[in-house]
Amino acid sequence: MSDVSDPIRITPIGGLGEVGRNMMVVEHDGIRIVIDCGIGFPHGDDRGLGVDIFLPDVRVMRGKPVDAVLVTHAHDDHVAALAHLIRTGTPIGRIVSLPFTIAMVEAKLSEHDLPLPPLVSVQPGDMVEIGSITAEFIRVAHSIPDPTAIALHTKLGTIVHTGDYKLDATGQDVRRQVDRKRLSALGDAGVLAMLGDSTNAQLPGRTPSEATTIEPLNDVIDEAPGRIILTSFSSQIDRIDHALRAADRTHRQVMLLGRSMRRNVKIAERLHEVMPTNLPTLSRRDIAGVKSMVLCTGSQAEEFAVLGRASRGEHPDLHIGNGDTVVYASRPVPGNEGAVEEMQNMLRMRGARVVTHHDAAIHVSGHARADEISEMIRMLRPNVVIPVHGEDQMLRAQAELAIDNGVKAENVHVGQNGDVLEIDATGVRLVDQIDSMAIPAGSDGLPLGAGEPG
Ligand SMILES: [Zn+2]
Ligand SMILES: [Zn+2]
Repeated sequence: MSDVSDPIRITPIGGLGEVGRNMMVVEHDGIRIVIDCGIGFPHGDDRGLGVDIFLPDVRVMRGKPVDAVLVTHAHDDHVAALAHLIRTGTPIGRIVSLPFTIAMVEAKLSEHDLPLPPLVSVQPGDMVEIGSITAEFIRVAHSIPDPTAIALHTKLGTIVHTGDYKLDATGQDVRRQVDRKRLSALGDAGVLAMLGDSTNAQLPGRTPSEATTIEPLNDVIDEAPGRIILTSFSSQIDRIDHALRAADRTHRQVMLLGRSMRRNVKIAERLHEVMPTNLPTLSRRDIAGVKSMVLCTGSQAEEFAVLGRASRGEHPDLHIGNGDTVVYASRPVPGNEGAVEEMQNMLRMRGARVVTHHDAAIHVSGHARADEISEMIRMLRPNVVIPVHGEDQMLRAQAELAIDNGVKAENVHVGQNGDVLEIDATGVRLVDQIDSMAIPAGSDGLPLGAGEPG
């Protein structure tokens, strides 16, 4: 029998000391919860090993039944290793998140021949009982529909995982607004610990709202003399929606190329997250028309994505040349800059005009900068802060912000994957360390499609 005065035990399996492979185990009062289970990309010493994708060490869950997997949002660094977790054979009670996330998880998992745990779709504000723990999903802003923070209300108190977030959603749809009221109310009631997104903690100020990209993108589209070929993360639904609206306004026909682009936009359309695309009326021949807009995958110079093949003249339908404007509505993830620039040069050599975030303000980050992180800490006023989602220097930057905003230095834990932490009203303690290594995808025999960071 468990003792309810047991501390809350938190073990980050991945996502500390790196951007990617986010996975965290929370154990308390006989309940085991996993928050997120995503993939990572090579960085540091991993580069050049010929491995494209790394997994968190899901093997540590073997023989440890999970009552619930709670998912903060549908980016691949948070969901794309779920199939691998299921494949370990560990029983999973249910996977819970908001509708867009659950739809994306369902689409991704159905690509594998695996027994699926129940997938449960909830709304922001819903309370989900998992034994004596109540999980609450709280709306934040990010770069994909339905991002949430997750509060776990336990007998010992509340811990809050922010998920990936930014706070500035000025001018955005109400569904993109951060629930500051609820976050502040949690702070008023008392928060034992905050696990917070550190990605942009080193950058001063605030990250601009996604809405600030609309006008510059419209200008680029209005000025294009011929076809537009726009590439972005296929999960970047808001930016795709802006492009679809611009296409509608300028009477351009739209074509979606790339499996994940079609799948994600279809899901977004079904859940009313983008304007209807009326795609069935468009035939493949229309792709050559001057008044068309092609939305495609390949913004990260992935070799076999649509734009990669087109840049080499190898795509059967998309031939890029004079008069075409290729718009990169996302920026390269760290480590990809060289490959992306090389591909952009190949497109220029074919005669296309290439527009990137250097030329127009068509990209903003989805992660909070220093002032927003400070605001989050002041809303939640947590006793303990554990920076997550970031390389070591990013974690340290958030730790400093926490101390600047009144959190006691001994209650801030800059940790690493595999740390076993205990949290209670007295603070946080490192009590153990487990092996938690990065596993190359494919080593567990499960094929994996191309992933996207975020
Ligand atoms: Zn994300
Ligand atoms: Zn992320």
